[in-house]
Amino acid sequence: MIIPTSVLEELLHALPLLRTQIYFKSSLTALSHAMEDQVLAGTDRALVIACFQRERFYRQEAHRYRRIGNKTDQVYVLAAPETEFQNSSQIQEAIAFEPDDGLAKEWHLVVLAPNYSTCLVCREKEVAPVNPSDLPSMDQSRRFEGIWTFDRQVSSTVARLLLERVRVYRPDLEAKIQQAIATYQLNETDKALEAAARFQDVDPGPFVQRLVTYLQAGQHKLVKTYRSIAAQERRERLVNSITTAIRQSLNPADIFQVAVRELGGALDVCRCLIYRCKATDQEAAIAYEFLGRSVKSLTGEVWPLQENPLFQEVVASGERVAVENISTDPRITGSKRLMSLVQEWEIGSWLMVPVFYQNQLVGMVELHHCGCEEREWDAEELAMVEAIATQVGVATLQAEAYANLEDLNEQLAALDRTRSNLIAITGHELRTPLSTIQVCLESLASDPDMPPELRQVMLSTALDDAERMRTLVQDFLTLSRLESGRVEWNTEALPLHECLSLAISSVHTRANTEAGGLPTLTLEVPEDLPLVRADGEWLVEVLSKLIDNACKFTPSGGTVTIVAQPRGDRELEVKVADTGRGISSDRLETVFDRFYQEEGALRRSTGGTGLGLAICRQIVTGWGGQIWAKSGGKDCGSQFYFTIPIAADSTSEVTPNPRSKSKSSKGDRSSGSSRNRRTPIR
Ligand code: ADP
Repeated sequence: MIIPTSVLEELLHALPLLRTQIYFKSSLTALSHAMEDQVLAGTDRALVIACFQRERFYRQEAHRYRRIGNKTDQVYVLAAPETEFQNSSQIQEAIAFEPDDGLAKEWHLVVLAPNYSTCLVCREKEVAPVNPSDLPSMDQSRRFEGIWTFDRQVSSTVARLLLERVRVYRPDLEAKIQQAIATYQLNETDKALEAAARFQDVDPGPFVQRLVTYLQAGQHKLVKTYRSIAAQERRERLVNSITTAIRQSLNPADIFQVAVRELGGALDVCRCLIYRCKATDQEAAIAYEFLGRSVKSLTGEVWPLQENPLFQEVVASGERVAVENISTDPRITGSKRLMSLVQEWEIGSWLMVPVFYQNQLVGMVELHHCGCEEREWDAEELAMVEAIATQVGVATLQAEAYANLEDLNEQLAALDRTRSNLIAITGHELRTPLSTIQVCLESLASDPDMPPELRQVMLSTALDDAERMRTLVQDFLTLSRLESGRVEWNTEALPLHECLSLAISSVHTRANTEAGGLPTLTLEVPEDLPLVRADGEWLVEVLSKLIDNACKFTPSGGTVTIVAQPRGDRELEVKVADTGRGISSDRLETVFDRFYQEEGALRRSTGGTGLGLAICRQIVTGWGGQIWAKSGGKDCGSQFYFTIPIAADSTSEVTPNPRSKSKSSKGDRSSGSSRNRRTPIR
């Protein structure tokens, strides 16, 4: 059963001379409490009818109504149920109405005793919907419109109107209602006026005093709410200003600098530190610090982490650690290390707040109060430091992501430049031999009477350049496979001298087919070298290319020496040295570039593609080694070095034959002589 009409309107209709007034919720609460206290303090058996908009509002006052119920049996409480409120007759009459009943918008209280009467009849004013997060603070300022009066006639009328509602919702209370009407003479206007006259003599002082007390209490509550809102606003403003400052930079150093300065200044601490760290770090170098007093600076110091039980506690719990009183905290007094830190850096109160990103510890914010100063870290400060720590985490990661992006962009731009250069160079390198071949073939075709010697020259030139094109394409494909990471490494433990033998045979085979003799080849490779860990096929490729170059750029009277020796206990160093034409010091790095050739492609006398050393570098870095060149300069010979890892379980028993799958194994294997120290091969 729903009655949509308003009790206030019914009252105004019944007593048209009444004028309504606006009341805030806090005033209505104070008035209601003062009216209820009138019943509680008096000796008269009063009629009390209280109408609450919702069950929750009644629940806040339930204890008072239980006490009122002990004073009089005519107590009616009406409310829209939310959980357990329902029609019942216990210490008072409970009357439940639907949430969309007209009563749900109103607030009524009538107190009627033989000697006094008061009533409060109000309806809530509709206001624009507010943000739900504002509700707690807005609640006290809800506004109502209605009547509050001591007038006996008005109170009797309101009591009658409300009892009529009760009659509808709880017909079972008819007898009790009749009794109330009779006892409190609700239908007898004359009696009401008589009682009103009696009431003139009642001292309003106690009521007014109670009312003022409740109004004061309401005001106090408002002030507290206002203070907490103001504090929250101040904190939010500060966090926002620090966040804005942090976010203005994408440079992690700036972010730390700004955060440490703003936070330290805002919280008025002696020292504020922000540093990067991981949960496993031994220590942190302090670079960002705010000093609020004349205390010792930690900048440039190494700050212990693993030895610091407070740091360990933060890592284990994932939460901040606050020590208010250093001298009595057992965590500090029980640790020698911490005691020495505290003394050295004069720390009185200590706060450590972790900076997390995606559940990983990425840094720490530390606040110190120094000297004899001890300070409690209040909830507001803690909330603020945590908010800043979160912002620092996000800003740092963003800055890093941006830096990575910039790096990536640069790499992409470099890659694009390389690609364009490569296309141009490859085009040139392929076109040159192709043009020669074309010219030779055209001459042969157009001149059938060409002398046989010239014909022979034409043919062998065309064949040479066709071979050059073939090796160029082959090297080019090898290099792009290596660069794109499409190579499968068949890594195994190998004896270096086996690979050397294969490389030397391939150089010999090539030399036999070419004009000019080889320089003297000498090996300085100890027999008891540990096994290396590499893909034999690629190791032979590196050795062949380096030895091939050394022979190419050294006259037949010169020497090429291959030296291998351990470098530390993890790798071998291999050197291919020659006494040839040497490399100028500014070209020692460039020789590893693709297509670098000192004399340029057109003036080349030695053959080759200009890709050999680029391929070697790719292979060597593939197994985690290094390759580099040295030279005394022009005509002073060159030395090419590379490193190769030693096999972990290195035993010279294992001697796999890399030739079985080596693409360089064109020639015979060199004899066992390659194992001897200082063995000339030619
Ligand atoms: P190429 O096929 O031209 O030998 P590389 O990449 O192997 O290509 O070598 C690049 C260039 O480095 C050579 O053209 C030469 O100018 C220089 N170079 C390489 N090895 C030596 C060496 N042992 N002595 C002098 N110069 C060398």
